Amino acid sequence: MASENHKLHIFFFPFLAHGHIIPTIDIAKLFASRGIKITIVTTPLNLPLLTTSLETHKSHGHIITIKTIPFPSEEAGLPQGCENADTIPSPSLFYAFFNATKLLQQPLEQLLLEDRPNCLIAGSFYPWATDSAAKFGIPRIVFHGTGSFAMCASESLNLYQPYKNVSSDSEPFVIPNLPGEIKMTRMAFPEYVKSDDDNELTRVLKESREAELRSYGVVVNSFYELDQVYADHYSNVMGRKTWHVGPVSLSNRDMKKKANRGKEASIDEEECLKWLDSKKPNSVLYLCFGSIVTFNESQLKEIALALEASGQNFIWVVRRSKQEDDEWLPEGFEKRMEGKGLIIRGWAPQVLILDHEAVGGFVTHCGWNSTLEGISAGVAMVTWPVGAEQFYNEKFVTEVLGVGVPVGVKKWVRVVGDSVNKEAIEKAVRRIMEEEMRNKVKEFAKMAKEAVEEGGSSYLNLSALIHELQSRCH
Ligand code: UDP
Repeated sequence: MASENHKLHIFFFPFLAHGHIIPTIDIAKLFASRGIKITIVTTPLNLPLLTTSLETHKSHGHIITIKTIPFPSEEAGLPQGCENADTIPSPSLFYAFFNATKLLQQPLEQLLLEDRPNCLIAGSFYPWATDSAAKFGIPRIVFHGTGSFAMCASESLNLYQPYKNVSSDSEPFVIPNLPGEIKMTRMAFPEYVKSDDDNELTRVLKESREAELRSYGVVVNSFYELDQVYADHYSNVMGRKTWHVGPVSLSNRDMKKKANRGKEASIDEEECLKWLDSKKPNSVLYLCFGSIVTFNESQLKEIALALEASGQNFIWVVRRSKQEDDEWLPEGFEKRMEGKGLIIRGWAPQVLILDHEAVGGFVTHCGWNSTLEGISAGVAMVTWPVGAEQFYNEKFVTEVLGVGVPVGVKKWVRVVGDSVNKEAIEKAVRRIMEEEMRNKVKEFAKMAKEAVEEGGSSYLNLSALIHELQSRCH
């Protein structure tokens, strides 16, 4: 295979957020494992995220080059060092961050000029990348980072604006032209979607949609058997060309690769595995809310109280450093939970944990990567969406797939989660640890593994994409 593909050189340019960089690295590795030359472009402060993760890949002799371009933090009014969505210090600076990413066009084009790759796979929030690729006569492929359901639902919402036909924020409406009679309320959407407000973010989103229609296609981190109805809808009704090549996290098979995704883990992976090894299968609940979401202290306390009341074993990832005080924790909590619960402050080796047989349930904010990693590991989920497209993912998990239980949040907030009381958390947690829901998600996990095996749907989709790109090189 390797020698057949030596002509193809693909450039990847992921959006500067962990939820985009992590799966992009996995996709790049998949291409590289088929003998394709890969260059990933990022900014200096994001470089370590790539090097750590690619270190374990090097030994296999695949060629992945990383190039950096400067990030104009100061020019865009951002604090120095803010080069990733997880370091944006306040919600009001989100617009400045999006603004800064526009200034990456020129340096990226300089690299395209020097290297002359055959294809550019770039994050959906870089609408200009379609024009950049066109300048060099190469296809631009979009990577959204989310699944078909959310892509279809958000497109329908944009096209038909059903939220304009309800009289209150809590009155449900059906998303038109979307299979499955999916009902939502205005509360589950940000102001910028509902209003005709013209700001940096609404402009980027509009331009991204337009650019996608002019792009060569969309590469999706999901697998056809999971997305089926919506994958077909996106292609046949919405007219997009897509390749489902995931779950891409499954390309990390050994312990080191599973542990080295994203930031350096705040817990030693051996120690973490040892802790999990001491627990019975399916007896541990894992709680993690991705790389951006934070909770206020009273919410953290409610979670702690619910965990204690539920009597479950748990691993709980809290996005706080060890240096920050723990006054939000109920008094004596960690002492009482010794041996039963583990708090990881900072970054967890998520896939390593989810894949352990001791883990039976996952409380998630429904970021698409986490959602798919949970499905791939066969764990039932408590869905706790916060912002972004997470409310769509919740619908998909709870209503379409039936592998999760909503914790009950209703309101979209940008980063600090809407509040939920202890009783609701405890109730949802108890439900997902039941066997019935787990059996269903285990079926999807099996399908996911088959999809990425040689001859599986995702494997073949990747082959088809490579073949198509190659045929353009002659
Ligand atoms: N992740 C991780 N450890 C953490 C938090 C997150 O490994 O402590 C990884 C997780 O496995 C996933 C990604 O970071 O691959 C988060 O992406 P997702 O789409 O779930 O959420 P986002 O961070 O974009 O909100």
